[in-house]
Amino acid sequence: MMPHTTGRVCNGCDGHATAHITTGTRAPDGTRTTLPVHCGTCHGTGTTAPRAAQAATR
Ligand SMILES: [Zn+2]
Repeated sequence: MMPHTTGRVCNGCDGHATAHITTGTRAPDGTRTTLPVHCGTCHGTGTTAPRAAQAATR
């Protein structure tokens, strides 16, 4: 599914602005501990400004 947004999808994360990484540790209840990490390019918005997107185009 392609997300429809008013802005351009971030090239850094393809719109997946927030990723959850596993820390390798497990909580006492057995679940994996994860940390939310925001994309450094769009700062968690998933989109970039049109002008910035044009500059990033090959
Ligand atoms: Zn991004």
